This record gives sequence, structure tokens and C-alpha cells, in this order.
Amino acid sequence: MFVPPFCPYSTCLAHRHPSKRHYLRYGFYKPLCRANPVPRFRCRTCKRTYSRQTFRADYRDHKPHLNTQLFRLLISGVGLRQSSRMLPLTLRCTELKFRKIGQHLRHLNLNVRGKLGPSAVLQMDEFETFETRRRERPVTVPVLIDTPTRFIIWAESETLSPRGRMSVARIESLAKEEGQFGPRKDNSKVAIRKVLERAIPMVSGLDMVRVQTDEKLTYPSLLQSAFGTARVIHEKTSSRLARTVANPLFPINQTEAIARDLLGRLRRQSWLASKKRCFLDLALQYLMTWKNLIKPRFNRDKATPAQFAGFLKRPLTYSEVLGWRQDQGRRSIPPCPRAALGRGVYAG
Ligand SMILES: [Zn+2]
Repeated sequence: MFVPPFCPYSTCLAHRHPSKRHYLRYGFYKPLCRANPVPRFRCRTCKRTYSRQTFRADYRDHKPHLNTQLFRLLISGVGLRQSSRMLPLTLRCTELKFRKIGQHLRHLNLNVRGKLGPSAVLQMDEFETFETRRRERPVTVPVLIDTPTRFIIWAESETLSPRGRMSVARIESLAKEEGQFGPRKDNSKVAIRKVLERAIPMVSGLDMVRVQTDEKLTYPSLLQSAFGTARVIHEKTSSRLARTVANPLFPINQTEAIARDLLGRLRRQSWLASKKRCFLDLALQYLMTWKNLIKPRFNRDKATPAQFAGFLKRPLTYSEVLGWRQDQGRRSIPPCPRAALGRGVYAG
């Protein structure tokens, strides 16, 4: 039987500090899209009513039964437009579903994580892509993983300033862009700081933090300011070394290759470009959810990266991933039964 963990209205006292009996049962309603009636509740404090559905990620969705299928398509290299044809949904509806689910997955990814064990070895690299216009609006995406478990700790984009060969036509078009939007900043350092910040709580229990990267000159100081000068063991590999299985950076290179393959918008020579990088960031959340929580680490494995890292005891299903709302941090209802959670994940 479903029990509401708190009052869903954020202005109510029972939202932050619910008592044991903060609600009254208040009948049922029969939704058109579901076979079973949904229980309703009334808050004893603010007297407002809500239902079990208020706690679901598909709250107020049109055609919620298509969410899982859309998720599967979007982590299979299919673009938004083709997904909208296949489901079928209108393009606008597909875009809005993509954004809503992406924001939900961001919360989920932040909730289902904990401290890494002493065997943790971080690897970081950046790949380049673009928003709307390849030659005028390049974007950098640093990716940080825990190598033994292949858990993707974070990936988030930032702007890059255009570089490389400048033809007359390119210089003209860059000048036009600059007139319209101002100079495009090189925010590579900002991007790396953002990604490293996500790792700080995860490595807080470790005496030393081992990080492997290429020889980019900005990395040492950024790593030291994130983890502390005395704690970082920084191992560098030349990016000129052949990118084979023998390359020490093979795990991060492979993770990036998988990202390029599974997210259509990251493919080279493709017309599935991101119009804005905020939507690229949402697509990266889809990838992180699938790689960390659903898919086994390697094809020969049965366990996911989140299981190897000790955050979960079994893989999550698609419907679990898209189930309970996660926007209340670790007070949110966990995506799976509590028995399947690892230590230190979710309150209660
Ligand atoms: Zn209330």
C-alpha cells in the first residue's frame, strides 16, 4: 500500500517536516490511461489534496505509456524527429517529453551515488562537439569516470571559442556571430571544474585520489584545487599514443566512443546536432542513466557500474528509472525497493 512520504506542496510545513500521520486517505480517482484506481490523500496541515500520481515522474504527462519507448529510442542513436515519427507523437510533444525526462534523470543520477571505495581510479578527458553551427559554436564536454566500475561520474558541456583553419568565409561568419552574440568564451576550465566538483563528495573518504588524463597543461592545477595538492596522484598519458586497448586511457576513450555512438547528436557527419548545449546536457543524463544504472558494465557482466560501485544491488528497469519523482534529493522515493539499495543512498 502506497504511503506518501511528505506533503508534496513545498510551502506546507508537512513538506519538510512531516509527522507520522501527516495525511488522511481521501478516496481514489480513475485515470483514463491506467487500469487501476489511484489513491488520493489530504494533508492534515494544509488541508490540500494530492494523489499517488503527484509523486510520479510522469505526473501530468500526456501519453505516459510512451515515456519508456522514447527513452529507449533516445539512447539508441535515434533523433527526436525520427522518435516522434516512430511512437507516434508530435515533434513538439517529443521535445517536451525529452526535456522533462532529462531533468528527472539529472535528479536521479545525483541521488543514486555514494562514496567510491579505495580501488577508485578516475579518468578524465574532453571531447568536442557543437551547438547548431559546427564551425562557429564549438562546445567542449569533459567526461569523468571511475575506471574499475566504469561509473560515469559526470559529463557537462561548456562553450569553446572557435579555432583551427580560418578561411575568409569563416572569418566573415565568425564576425557576424560575434556582432550578434558577443565574443564566444573559451570555458574549458569552467567545464572541468564543474565536472570535478561532482567527484569531490564521492572521493571524500579516500586518502589519495588517483586520476589519469592526457598531458593537457591546465589539468594539474585544476585537479589539485579540486582534491587538494597533497591528495592527487596524477598519471599522464600522451595523446599521441595509439588509441588501442593497450592505451592506459582506453576506458575513457571507450566511454566517449560509446557516447558518440549512442547519442545521435554526438555522431560525426550527422545532422542530429544539438541546437543548444543545455539540451546536449540533458541527453548526457540519458546516457549516464543507461550506462550507470541499467546496462551491465561489460557485455560479459551481469552487474551495472552502480552495482560494482556499491550504490545498488541490482540493475534498475526502464520503468523504475522513469518511476518516482527524484526532485526532493535523497528524501525522494527510491527508484527501487529499499532492499535493492546500496549503503548510504537515500534517507530513511
Ligand atoms: Zn500540506
